[in-house]
Amino acid sequence: MSHDVFSALESEVKFYCRAFPTVFERARGHELFDRGGRRYIDFLAGCGALNYGHNDRAIKDAVVRYLEADGILHAMDMHTRAKGEFMEAFNGIVLQPRRLEYKIQFTGPTGTNAVEAALKLARKVTGRPTVAAFTHAFHGVTLGSLAATASRGKRRAAGIELANVTRLPFDGYFGLDTDTIALIERLIEDHGSGIDLPAAFLVETVQAEGGLNVASTDWLRRLTELAERHGILVIVDDIQAGCGRCGPFFSFERAGLYPDIVCLSKSIGGIGLPLAMLLIRPEIDQWRPGEHNGTFRGNNLAFVAARAALDYWKTGRFEAEIKRKADTVAERLAAIAAVGGANAAHVKGIGLLQGIAWERPEVSARVAATAFENGLVVETCGADDEVVKVSPPLTIGDTGLAEGLDILERAVAAVLIG
Ligand SMILES: *Cc1c(COP(=O)(O)O)cnc(C)c1O
Repeated sequence: MSHDVFSALESEVKFYCRAFPTVFERARGHELFDRGGRRYIDFLAGCGALNYGHNDRAIKDAVVRYLEADGILHAMDMHTRAKGEFMEAFNGIVLQPRRLEYKIQFTGPTGTNAVEAALKLARKVTGRPTVAAFTHAFHGVTLGSLAATASRGKRRAAGIELANVTRLPFDGYFGLDTDTIALIERLIEDHGSGIDLPAAFLVETVQAEGGLNVASTDWLRRLTELAERHGILVIVDDIQAGCGRCGPFFSFERAGLYPDIVCLSKSIGGIGLPLAMLLIRPEIDQWRPGEHNGTFRGNNLAFVAARAALDYWKTGRFEAEIKRKADTVAERLAAIAAVGGANAAHVKGIGLLQGIAWERPEVSARVAATAFENGLVVETCGADDEVVKVSPPLTIGDTGLAEGLDILERAVAAVLIG
């Protein structure tokens, strides 16, 4: 295989490969290997699709066993053993211990498919056409989700008007002194505000692509109370922040929320297999049979992987380990952010979704590029790509974590000090 195949044949829309210009071949856990045998530490982890790392042994074994046994791979949305066993385990391991009661809808296998289904259901149930989404939000790039996504560059590519979304300020958008819930409340409650009552608030409790913005628990609770008072549904997009990325299985557990709809994808498929689903409060599961469909709703191989991945959540140990590693990351990042002088940078995020924002956005791109040259895959995020985002597999060991953070630290020093 020649490297030119990519420049010759692959569309210009390609993106991540531009930041990480090599040809990857194998991976295990937090390690990637390119075809030259070079090793990289993975702090990208499929943007949160690889929370359990690459080729997790137990998950992969379950998948291989299923394939060997001629387990069914495609069945539309017919009942299969793989689906039944996944749902039973999800209910028993994730939902019941958290006292969450939900119906499960499997959508097409990508995150944006789940968001589209959630928007459609919220509009159908409330009879209201608009949905409220937030500044710096990212919800996917198909038209409905894209309308809710905030990035100007992404929106421009739609080529048509992106309608039926009202934009509201996320927690902290106007700085610490502005209470954005009070502002939203006024817009919702004033009959002359010019804002129609939305079907739903579509919200990420921690904005990942938007720059690691963490909504406070108080903000989330007040948003939910406001929603309840006006019959507005709360849809939590937990596609990236969920599945343990922020510590607990769901990112909203820290605020004690019981959202009307939850969108899950990315790591729910265990080892990067595509799977997406909605959790729907039983009373708003008002779909008629077949009203929303899709050929690949529920991927049976992904169900098997997803079922195996849930074993990580059988006890509280995994969550405690994430918390411990997150504390290490916070400490190390605070020290790294101090390189080059005070106030030039600050640490953002929560759990194993943290990073450093630089006042000068060009610094983060140079840090990520330098880190890659030294064997660390790490991406930037935020409206101006000003944040370097540390998002390793949740399963990473202390040695791997330290090794990656060391590379990051040296990259920052090289960029800022030379
Ligand atoms: C990745 C992501 C999506 C979109 O998922 P795709 O699989 O890329 O369509 C939606 N919301 C959030 C928060 C995401 O991180």
